[in-house]
Amino acid sequence: MSDAETRTHSALHVLKGAAQKVLGTNLTASVYVSGERGRLTVQALRKPTPEELGTVEQEANAVVREGAEVLEFEMEKEEAEKHFGDEIYDMFPVRKEVPMLRIVRIPDWNVNCCREKHVENTSQIGEIRLEGTRFRNNKRLLEISFRLLT
Ligand SMILES: [Zn+2]
Repeated sequence: MSDAETRTHSALHVLKGAAQKVLGTNLTASVYVSGERGRLTVQALRKPTPEELGTVEQEANAVVREGAEVLEFEMEKEEAEKHFGDEIYDMFPVRKEVPMLRIVRIPDWNVNCCREKHVENTSQIGEIRLEGTRFRNNKRLLEISFRLLT
């Protein structure tokens, strides 16, 4: 993964937290990263309004500007589930026999099990610009495309 892609991937965590807060979307169905462009696909019940999407972008950029720490640590699976609940999981499954999870946490914002590489501080991500969304009603999936401006 290039440096740009490490930043873009990290932006997915920030954006997921913003979508959770503003739209109440919890589960990630898939993610896509290419250079400074990325796409987060989350489970959603309806298409968000332009105002809501504006708020998602603002909230995400507030976390970038704030310069929050991105913490990464290993945790026993059982312990992590007790501590964080199902919130750490996405729709893609973690193999059952895996005893340890790698947890990525932006305090008060997002917690996820993830094995990718991340920035140490959200300020390294740069500004996030939402570039469009697509809501697939039959699958109840919302795709949020974005790019990094710096
Ligand atoms: Zn990650």
